[in-house]
Amino acid sequence: MKFHVITLFPDICKAYTDASILGRAQLKEKGKGAKHTGKKIEVKYYDIRTFSKNKHKKVDDRPYGGGPGMVMYAEPILRAWEKAVGKLVHRNANGGGKNEINKQKAKVKTLIMSPRGTMFTTQMAKDLAKKYDHLVLISGRYEGIDSRVQKILKAEEVSVGDYVLTGGELPALTIIDSVARQVPGVLGTFESLEEERVSSGEMYTRPEVLEYKKKKYKVPPVFLSGNHAEIERWKQGEN
Ligand code: SAH
Repeated sequence: MKFHVITLFPDICKAYTDASILGRAQLKEKGKGAKHTGKKIEVKYYDIRTFSKNKHKKVDDRPYGGGPGMVMYAEPILRAWEKAVGKLVHRNANGGGKNEINKQKAKVKTLIMSPRGTMFTTQMAKDLAKKYDHLVLISGRYEGIDSRVQKILKAEEVSVGDYVLTGGELPALTIIDSVARQVPGVLGTFESLEEERVSSGEMYTRPEVLEYKKKKYKVPPVFLSGNHAEIERWKQGEN
């Protein structure tokens, strides 16, 4: 799976995707015993400002029709999108109009981060990981992005929750993180098994007895029992 992130702040995003599990998933696994050779995921960044043709590298302007704040220009974002997946997206040769974008062939999906979009879920992460090879994530700032970007690219607007953030970077990272977990080989075997459900319930690690402000907090005995069926039941709240 290749992620293409279109943003004004690539550096803050890269710091996150280069760390821990996502960072490891971008390295080539080689040598004997490697379960999944090659890179499991790739993450590419496109800094919107570098696609601005304005001499001051301006990326936003006042909204038509009035209202507060600034709206991001469509053109630099469209140029960034062309750079990311333009070549992969074949033009429809037979009939269908020369400019008809054939996203099917290239398995490209474009998502625009927006608090008004479809609510992102684990099910969506699973579908995206299964159906597409390239995921383009467009991250807005200020009041948002000129609506023509969505219309031209036939992109889907996605929200990560019923609240408004100052930018689409955290939503884009949230989606990358969640989709990457669904890509084979990104998680270890044990963690992959955990994927059968949405969350894993209660969990404990050492020490067995934790002392905090003179009080003792024990790991529930069932976790030390070695009885996995019992442990599962406890975790699912059937205790
Ligand atoms: N005034 C705008 C909000 C802009 S928030 C409105 O009413 O819709 C600025 C940017 O942050 C958006 O363009 C979007 O990319 C991102 N963003 C904010 N909250 C988000 C959320 N819950 N989910 C996804 N993206 C969000």
